[in-house]
Amino acid sequence: MRSLKTVLAILISGAIGAGLAAQGMRGGTRVAPGQECPPGTTAVRPGSCMAPSETPPGILDYRPRSTLVTAEHKVPKAKFPAIDVHGHPGNVASAGAINRVVGIMDSLNIRVMLVAENVSGQRLTSTMAALNASPHKDRFRVLAGIDFRNVGPGWGGRAAQQLEADLKAGAIGVGEVPKSFGLRITKADGARLKVDDPELDPLWAAFARLDVPAFIHTAEPQEFFQPLDYKNERWLELALFADRRNNQPGQVTFEQLMTERNNLFRKHPKTRFVAAHFGWHANDLARAAKMLDEFPNVTIEAGAILYDLGRQPRAAREFFVKYQDRIMFGKDSFQPEEYPYYWRVFETADEYFDYYRDYHAFWKMYGMALPDEVLKKVYHRTALRVFKGLPQSGWPQ
Ligand SMILES: [Zn+2]
Repeated sequence: MRSLKTVLAILISGAIGAGLAAQGMRGGTRVAPGQECPPGTTAVRPGSCMAPSETPPGILDYRPRSTLVTAEHKVPKAKFPAIDVHGHPGNVASAGAINRVVGIMDSLNIRVMLVAENVSGQRLTSTMAALNASPHKDRFRVLAGIDFRNVGPGWGGRAAQQLEADLKAGAIGVGEVPKSFGLRITKADGARLKVDDPELDPLWAAFARLDVPAFIHTAEPQEFFQPLDYKNERWLELALFADRRNNQPGQVTFEQLMTERNNLFRKHPKTRFVAAHFGWHANDLARAAKMLDEFPNVTIEAGAILYDLGRQPRAAREFFVKYQDRIMFGKDSFQPEEYPYYWRVFETADEYFDYYRDYHAFWKMYGMALPDEVLKKVYHRTALRVFKGLPQSGWPQ
């Protein structure tokens, strides 16, 4: 039997040998414990980095075939009729456009789409006229818009009047209050219009009085506010779309926007808010939970954050079960082929499957296998409660 000393000696000489071998190889580099390998190399042994002999593919070109053999359950149609509370179907002010969108909704089992296009004034009137003349009028509901430009003395009262007029014209709420509100819209005096600006208070109070929700998009994914470097998990998206780079001199920060938004939620406890995109906390569900716990007047919507749910299916499932009365389905960008990814993540227990856009997520999705009762709430029940002007009858019990 070998002595402990001998075993240790063998192990140590082996480790040194591996290190030396790596060092002798092309690009071989030693790094101290806890230190990262230099760019262009990868760890081959603890403390030892190496560069590949072939030119490595770029972020766009590495598309490995998965060899995982596992059950696949594609879900072309939602299991229960869905309401898309974050619909961007474009202009639905003509019979042709309405019929085309309804055909797509039928193929996905979306019963109602909330048109979240900030349609106000004359455009709202013509949209409502086209919908009312259509046999499909109950397949849509429309949210009005608010013109946040030139906020100054007296603005709040006038905006409240416009809101009242838009509701009379047929809108059932407001949205999507755009991300530019808080990020870059300026006041009459040229200063950035803060989300919690007191000049807006009469408007938010009017929402409470008229009992309609405000569907509000504040900020952007956290990484959009970080430097565009190779540590940024949204590097590709930011490199593709320069206007999403919010890490600029003088730019408001993510945290500042969250503070202003929370001030707004706190200041108007009787106004019902729908925070679009999970309030951008889907990557931090404890923070999403804290927001919902602190503000009972807030519900959330799951548009364009599926990549965060699908990479933490167990925590996401737990969150959906706990907050099942506070979460609504919404898709955002109207791409018919993308909806089934939502159904699959929500409904199945499938593992390691593709997401639809590499620039959102270079990782794979996993299904949350939500119980039917939770699915029904996410797909339509909570929306019916929050947006009271939605068609209320004919839904499954
Ligand atoms: Zn949005």
